[in-house]
Amino acid sequence: MTRRARSSMPLGVPMAWMAGLHQTPPIYILEGKGPRFTDIDGNTYCDFNVADLSMTMGFGPVPIVEAARRAVETGAHFLLPTENAVHVTEELARRCGLPFWQFTLSASGANAEVIRIARHLTGRERIVVFQGHYHGHIDEMLVEARNGRTVPGFAGVSPDAAAKTIILPFNDLDRLEHVLASEEVALVITEPALTNCGLVQPEPGFHEGLRGLTARYGTLLCYDEAHTFQFAYGGLKRAWQLESDFHVIGKGLGTGISFALYGFSAEIETELSHQQGTEVGPSGLPEGVATGGTTYASALATAVARAALIEILTEENYTRIRSLGARLANGLDTLFAKHGLPWCAHRLGPRSGFCMRPDLPRDFDEAQLSLDTLWIDTRRVYMANRGIWDAVSSAGPQASFAHAPEDIDLYLQVTDDFLSEIEWVIVP
Ligand code: PMP
Repeated sequence: MTRRARSSMPLGVPMAWMAGLHQTPPIYILEGKGPRFTDIDGNTYCDFNVADLSMTMGFGPVPIVEAARRAVETGAHFLLPTENAVHVTEELARRCGLPFWQFTLSASGANAEVIRIARHLTGRERIVVFQGHYHGHIDEMLVEARNGRTVPGFAGVSPDAAAKTIILPFNDLDRLEHVLASEEVALVITEPALTNCGLVQPEPGFHEGLRGLTARYGTLLCYDEAHTFQFAYGGLKRAWQLESDFHVIGKGLGTGISFALYGFSAEIETELSHQQGTEVGPSGLPEGVATGGTTYASALATAVARAALIEILTEENYTRIRSLGARLANGLDTLFAKHGLPWCAHRLGPRSGFCMRPDLPRDFDEAQLSLDTLWIDTRRVYMANRGIWDAVSSAGPQASFAHAPEDIDLYLQVTDDFLSEIEWVIVP
């Protein structure tokens, strides 16, 4: 199949990034059910990558299947609002605390709109992110720090766009204040805990300081919970009582249907209400901020979002996956002790992972030292051959809404076997 696929797709995959995620040739998938999927050779895998948090409900969850089927049968999209859109945005306002919400097709799209709105409202250009960030497929975000400058992190990214972004260490309020005091920064965008470089959790007081500084220097603040909305009911923003101007959630809430949303304050809503009457295009002076897309907020997306929120993303189910996550983290800690490894398990709700140092990382540099990509890729191959699909190297295994305690125990059993077979050379 790889040979055949390579004649019509670069590297034999429908988006080249799929090949970059793993150091092995792709496996081609037939179908999935619950927490497992099966490849075209008939091998079945229990999934701990959950499509990078876009499939946390598992494969074929009944409420999502029903909502999607009904929506497709009765009209998947009208480019007009549905009652489900009203229901979903009301429910998110209740859960997450920000009163107004808009749909996009992806978290990348949501962050792109948040950046535009923030620039428009503040009259400033610069954006702050924290080292170890990932906020999607946007030029300003696909950047890295090199020799004191911000440069494109990938080919094809505009150096001018990259130069607008400032990258700071997470958990460092002094550096943040120094930069915000210039009053050039439109927006700080961050995850509540960094989830794309292993896992980096905030130190006590970091988020309060972040909110205080952004408010003091006229900078807007966005929590990007494309991942962490899956960690706690209403996201970590609700669980940790974080305040912000924007709130992004994405990855189809884990349903497998592509959509995302962003929430914002009443003051920001006033600005967006200038959108009315811009359909005819740039015939006069532009009034509204550039937002929206033809397939955004479809009847399909809004129906699925409603079913997800009401039937699966319940407080009870979040409590259940939190305990599965604790089972995973406790099990990993037990295995590290058993094998004499000076490591510790990540733990944040349903998310766990291997920290290959005695202490959890506090920033990106420490996170880099706490993981080893080659070791993780080796682990993935070992696990794949034993019925487990492990997380990509920048993430960690995630307990999903479809997992049962026995699935967690299987992951731990295979980890135990792997640790037993590997010979260790620990370099201090
Ligand atoms: N924000 C965060 C925190 C993410 O982890 C990701 C994807 N990994 C995105 C945004 C972008 O999501 P998407 O690729 O669905 O646009």
